[in-house]
Amino acid sequence: MRVLIAGEPGRPGGDNEDFAAAAPGLFLVLDGAGSPPGVESGCVHSVAWYARTLGGLLLAAASDVGVGLDEALAVSIERVNALHAGACDLGHPGSPSATVALARVNGGRVEHLVLADAVLVLDRVGQVPTVVTDDRLAGVIAHLNEPGALPSVGGEEHAGRLRSRVERLAVYRNQPGGFWVASTKPEAAHEALMGSTPLGELDAVALLSDGASRLADRFDLMTWPDLLAVLRKNGPGELIARTREAEASDPGGVRWPRGKTSDDASAVYWAVRD
Ligand SMILES: [Zn+2]
Repeated sequence: MRVLIAGEPGRPGGDNEDFAAAAPGLFLVLDGAGSPPGVESGCVHSVAWYARTLGGLLLAAASDVGVGLDEALAVSIERVNALHAGACDLGHPGSPSATVALARVNGGRVEHLVLADAVLVLDRVGQVPTVVTDDRLAGVIAHLNEPGALPSVGGEEHAGRLRSRVERLAVYRNQPGGFWVASTKPEAAHEALMGSTPLGELDAVALLSDGASRLADRFDLMTWPDLLAVLRKNGPGELIARTREAEASDPGGVRWPRGKTSDDASAVYWAVRD
């Protein structure tokens, strides 16, 4: 099994709030999210703690192929709850959360689960790739009626707009009609996008945090086949390096309005047929 993994924090030397891992037949990327400075979270733990703890527990739970991927995620969310319930307010809407992309070999098939805006790409033999991501968060943001695109990164106006967005989004988080993400509600796991593909139909599987998918899905600098070609020939480290180059060409987020100049980026590439 040939698996390549790369991850980089959005700021050099900063905390990487993503979690990427692989075990035999099991591949995982999580992207932790929390409250911006000045917004209460109800939790004494860091976002990185949440992503790493959930990721480790999910790797263990999903290694039992008798358990569905959504059930494995639900159980893992419950287990993380037990680890911070004593110190933290699990009912707080600002509690740390994570997006999830998970793939597992089970018999002759590859099963997948995607929750929130993590991205899973199935590179199919002789076909266009299938991109699995849950765009419900983007849909909710589109309905917030914000006054235009985010202003340039770095200013007080940008920080204020982000704070306001996060506070308004809290109402929609893990609610019917809103968007779903791993946090403190195990039932969110059953809202994930799931599917399975015969192993023989796959060339490769890629799992990406949204910080590593943006060349294709936000910046439109690559097609998905281009992105898969970079992963195949040069590996996930090169994909992240090219992402950083594009971000550096637009540090203020003028061409591509966004929350941060660079986001934590993680990619797992599994060459199925190698
Ligand atoms: Zn906590």
